[in-house]
Amino acid sequence: MLTTRWLLKNCNIIDGLTDEVHENAFIKIENGMITEVGQGEPTQTGGFEIIDCTGKYVLPGLIDCHVHLVWNGSADPQSVINHEENDRIALEAYKHALDTLRLGITTVRDLGSPDRTVLHVRNVINSNLLEGPTIIASGAPICMTGGHVYYLGYESDGADEVRKNTRRVLKEGADLVKVMATGGIYTKGEDPGSVQLTIEELSAAKEEALKKNKKVAAHADGLEGIMNCLEVGIDTIEHGIFADRQALEIMKKQGTFLVPTMAVMRQLTSSPDIPAFALEKAKKVVEPHFNMLKEAVQIGVKIATGTDCGSPLTPPVYYFDELSIMHEAGMSQMDVIKASTSVAAECLGIEDQVGSVSAGKQADLLIVEKNPLENLNSLRDDKLIMKNGVFVK
Ligand SMILES: [Zn+2]
Repeated sequence: MLTTRWLLKNCNIIDGLTDEVHENAFIKIENGMITEVGQGEPTQTGGFEIIDCTGKYVLPGLIDCHVHLVWNGSADPQSVINHEENDRIALEAYKHALDTLRLGITTVRDLGSPDRTVLHVRNVINSNLLEGPTIIASGAPICMTGGHVYYLGYESDGADEVRKNTRRVLKEGADLVKVMATGGIYTKGEDPGSVQLTIEELSAAKEEALKKNKKVAAHADGLEGIMNCLEVGIDTIEHGIFADRQALEIMKKQGTFLVPTMAVMRQLTSSPDIPAFALEKAKKVVEPHFNMLKEAVQIGVKIATGTDCGSPLTPPVYYFDELSIMHEAGMSQMDVIKASTSVAAECLGIEDQVGSVSAGKQADLLIVEKNPLENLNSLRDDKLIMKNGVFVK
C-alpha cells in the first residue's frame, strides 16, 4: 500500500517563492498535500513515514508552460501523426506525458493538440486514473485557414468564426484558449514575422475566453502580431521572437507573461534532418530571439519556463537546456527556478495549487543531491520525484 503521510526531515528547501535556501527544514505531507513546512525538529510525527534529506535539496516540481504532448520530438513529429487516428494519438500523448513526469516536470501546459486528444489525456491524469503530470490544456488552437500548425487547430476566418471556435474549444473543456497571432517556423510557406489572426479576430477570442474566466495564450513571433496581442490583452506571449523594447515594456506594464521557448529554436537548427523549410527559417531567428530574451530579462518582464517540447528534435529532456539558456540570458539560477515553479504556476493561473513548497499546495516535489543554485544542470541528475504525495516510478 502507498504511504499517504510523509515527513521529509533535515531538508535544504528552495521553496520557489523566496530567495533564501531554508536549511534544516521539514515538510509534512498528508493525502497528497503539503500540510506543514517548518524549521528544526518537527513535533507530532506519529504515523508519518520519515525520509532523512540530510545534505539534499528539496524544491517544487518543475512546470513546463508550453508543450505539445501529441508530438514525439523526432525531426518531423507531425509527419508521425499525420495519418493516425485520434485514439492512437491520445495514447502516444499519454506516453509523452509520462516521459515528462519522469524527468521531474510535474505540471505541463499543452498548447495545441488535434480535437480532444490531449483533453482526454488530461482528464484521466488529473482525475488520478493514470499517473502523469498535472495537465492544463488548450485543446485545438485557433488559427487562420492554412495558418500556423493548422493541422492541429480549428481554422477560423473573421471574428465570428473565431468566436464560434473559441466557444467550441471551451465547450470541449479547454482550460485556456490558444491563438495563432503570427506565422512560425514549423509550418511551410509562412514567415514567422507575418500577421495571421487579425486584431479583430484576437479580440473575439479574448472576449469569449473572458466570459468563461479563461486565459488566452498566443503564438506570436513577429512584432506586429505581438503588438496586436498586447492591445487586446492576451495573457501570455509564446516565443515573442521579434518583440522590441517598446513591446517588452508594455508586457512589463500589463503583467503579460513571456514564455520564450529558447531551446526549440536552437534544436531546429541542429540537424539536417529537420524539414528544410523550417531549418532555413530557424537559422534566421536564433540570434534575435536570444537578444530579445536578454532585453526582457533586463526590463523585468515576467518570464515563465516553456520548451515547446514534442517539436522537432525537442523531446522533454530539453527542459534542462531551456533552463541553461535562460541563465545565459542573464537570469540568476534562483530566478530560473522561480520561472519554472511559482512564476510558471502564476502564468497558468494555478498558483494556489502548485509551484511552491508551502502548506496547502499539492505535494509535487523534487529531492535532488546537489544544490541547483550552484549548477542548474544538477536538476538533470537522478532524483526523487513526488507528484501529489506519491513517489514516481
Ligand atoms: Zn508550440
